[in-house]
Amino acid sequence: ESATAELELGAPWRNSFHTLGPAFFTELRSTPLPEPYGISVNALLARELGLDAEALASPAGVLALTGNALIPGSQPLASVYSGHQFGVWAGQLGDGRAILLGEIDTPAGPRELQLKGSGKTPYSRMGDGRAVLRSSIREYLGSEALWGLGIPTTRALAVTGSDAPIRREEVETAAVVTRVAPSFIRFGHFEHFAARDQHAELRQLADYVIGRFYPDCLATGKFSGNPYAAFLEQVSERTAAMVAQWQAVGFCHGVMNTDNMSILGLTIDYGPFQFLDAFVPGHICNHSDEQGRYAYNKQPNVAYWNLFCLGQALLPLIGDQEMALAALESYKAVFPRELESRMRAKLGLADARDGDRALIEDILKLLAQDGVDYTIFWRRLSHAVADGPGEATRDLFLDRPAFDAWLARYIPRVEESGRGDAGQRMLRINPKYVLRNHLGELAIRQAKLGDYSGVEGLLALLQAPFDEHPAHEDKAGFPPDWASHIEISCSS
Ligand code: AMP
Ligand code: MG
Ligand code: MG
Repeated sequence: ESATAELELGAPWRNSFHTLGPAFFTELRSTPLPEPYGISVNALLARELGLDAEALASPAGVLALTGNALIPGSQPLASVYSGHQFGVWAGQLGDGRAILLGEIDTPAGPRELQLKGSGKTPYSRMGDGRAVLRSSIREYLGSEALWGLGIPTTRALAVTGSDAPIRREEVETAAVVTRVAPSFIRFGHFEHFAARDQHAELRQLADYVIGRFYPDCLATGKFSGNPYAAFLEQVSERTAAMVAQWQAVGFCHGVMNTDNMSILGLTIDYGPFQFLDAFVPGHICNHSDEQGRYAYNKQPNVAYWNLFCLGQALLPLIGDQEMALAALESYKAVFPRELESRMRAKLGLADARDGDRALIEDILKLLAQDGVDYTIFWRRLSHAVADGPGEATRDLFLDRPAFDAWLARYIPRVEESGRGDAGQRMLRINPKYVLRNHLGELAIRQAKLGDYSGVEGLLALLQAPFDEHPAHEDKAGFPPDWASHIEISCSS
């Protein structure tokens, strides 16, 4: 046994989820991994949470964040949930490899800490309770990339590793990601209790989430004062806003099962996700998704389908089907409005005019037709508006007359909107850096050799994706040919 001191987080533990009681979780300890080592600590997030990054990276921190040592004040548990996977009811799932340590008070508000990959739980089914280094790095960088883009998401505080062999398609090594969010409750938590007709627990869960995160549902006069209908409406609105942001930035989630949908409208469960390279609307990023259920252009409808499942789960509380449907309707109003406003912002348009929608649809059509790189297009267009000649943007297209014709409509429109100013705004909305698959892959290859500098470098870049990083110009370029051959599946 090592003589390393315990990690003192220096933040008070609250553990409110734990107060829900044993119907919602199983208390347990993580399963230690042999000889754990630190891989990366997210210093920016640590600072935001008032935590000491050096302490997290210390030997005591590594033991605690791997799950080998208990942090005083934490009350580890695995929560139970169910869900629909690929459109089919899957029954009970649950935290199969995620262990909730508890909740701390931070300067940013209450935050739960969860270890992903720290051992088996009663919900592991056939799984080993572990996560491999490859997928842990993808989650770490992916979630911080979305945060850097201003998209609601769970965060990642650290990654630790161990050379313990983990069997996937091939033998890999183990890692643990420390995830951070106000809550990790998913649609599937509600579906779980609804499917079992456990209406008392269903109500307890809803009251907990409403009380903590949606308190104004109790006060609103909407839906004849029915707080559960108001809750469904607000979750629908948050989900709509999140998915609109995914679409605007070209993010594919890849596994939008109902157990991977956050009740807070946060992006959660970073598996086979991908940022688009070329703009291919029907792009499928998950190699296991043979039907293309979770293709990029299907995400908005799938989110609604998932909300419908949540609505069905909440029906015993709402008590009125018409009211539940009315609450869900908000998605159909909010999603297109949010998407249009995001796309208008990408074009640098400060106000809304007739014809904007056609301008947006037409450029997306051209991008799709010519398979233009999505991120590079928007960044070059931003520069064209901000500082002059548009040749570099035009060069991206095969059908240049078609692009010229579009530009001839767009330029007068953006000039009315205040061109100089518009360009600067566009450069703050259209990122220079996104986590392309090949960038993650290169950092992973390096990390497998024990060199984590690539992970650290990408993290810093992705946390400030609108800034210029002259030393990293190569990471803003087109993907290499081999990028299109990377296959990312659910295996993680
Ligand atoms: P996902 O596809 O990541 O949403 O996972 C679906 C379910 O499988 C969840 O209940 C996970 O906790 C569980 N799961 C995934 N991988 C593992 C694993 N290696 N060990 C145990 N459970 C797992
Ligand atoms: Mg999941
Ligand atoms: Mg997953």
